Amino acid sequence: MNILFFVVFFGGMLFSQNNNLDFNDNISLFSNKIKNQSDLAKYAKAEIKWEIKRKNEWIEIKPVNIQGTTSYYEIEQEGDLKEIRAISTVNWYDPPCPDCFWKFTVQYSNDTEFAGHVHKTAPPLKYLSGEDMLNPIESGELKAGQKFIITFKRPLYSTRIKWNVNWIILGWRQYFSVDISDIKVKNLKSLNSGEGYSLVGQTDIHPSNHWVISDFKTDLENIGKLWKQRCPKSDVLYYNDASLIWGGLFDINGNWNSPHIGHDAGLHIDISKKHIRKGNREKALEVMCKNAIVYSEGDSSQNKEIPHYHVIYKNTPGEIINKLEGDYKYIPCCFDNIPQKCIDLESGGQPVEGSLPTESDCL
Ligand SMILES: [Zn+2]
Ligand SMILES: [Zn+2]
Repeated sequence: MNILFFVVFFGGMLFSQNNNLDFNDNISLFSNKIKNQSDLAKYAKAEIKWEIKRKNEWIEIKPVNIQGTTSYYEIEQEGDLKEIRAISTVNWYDPPCPDCFWKFTVQYSNDTEFAGHVHKTAPPLKYLSGEDMLNPIESGELKAGQKFIITFKRPLYSTRIKWNVNWIILGWRQYFSVDISDIKVKNLKSLNSGEGYSLVGQTDIHPSNHWVISDFKTDLENIGKLWKQRCPKSDVLYYNDASLIWGGLFDINGNWNSPHIGHDAGLHIDISKKHIRKGNREKALEVMCKNAIVYSEGDSSQNKEIPHYHVIYKNTPGEIINKLEGDYKYIPCCFDNIPQKCIDLESGGQPVEGSLPTESDCL
């Protein structure tokens, strides 16, 4: 899968290193010599290395952009990747300063609006133990070369995390750096209005809800065009929730749980069933099944959902398809003999009165 591919990079550094200085190792002299950040850069190197854990292996990631003292990282929002860590250290050189220490304070903020959530802030990040992560985080005093490691769980929601780091190194007390880590499904594209379909389901808390991978976008546009050809006089298809701009948890109710199952990677979209005349549904399914895999969802008696077609990308990874097929809620519809449940409109197992005429108005 293209979107699950991850590139391995090498970490950046905040200061450069210079080993050829004749320098007194007295701490106060150090302090006197170091008047600003560029002086500090001659004697010390501070570093934060970001790593993600996949299949029990830590993989280093490199910043995608560096502007001044701000470094930008992108972390793929995907199921296999469960842990993230930042390894920080400071080294200084020529001569050694045995009594010197470094420490930092890290304050993080979690901005989920970048990921498409316009509602109350997300719950805090979690340590692997499940406890809330401290904020701010204090390293305490550490020697040159000693490491301080922050490890946390990848949140299910996508987000921009901004890490403000206040370093104290060799007596210089005003060094700040910022690391920005975007946890996201990369390269999702938004559906725009087009022929044969209409975009619905936008809400105040999730105003942009039609993000999908590029190939699926093309397929959904083709479904609209084909529907328009086959049924030019009938109403358009109504495309409801796909994914948010950065994918990840799609909490329809804005409460950071109640996930919209499957709507986290740009591979799923809900298409209204009740807005398609009953007499047109077989034709609509033919059109959709040519370009995608279609399930009827919300028909089961054990389910109170509004019935709709749950439509997924035709090359969706097998494990996602297996999950859907193993769930009673999803009735597969793409067969030569279309199951009656895919045509009938039921909610909670009960027939629902349609407000539309039932006879077909297709050509
Ligand atoms: Zn939300
Ligand atoms: Zn659905």
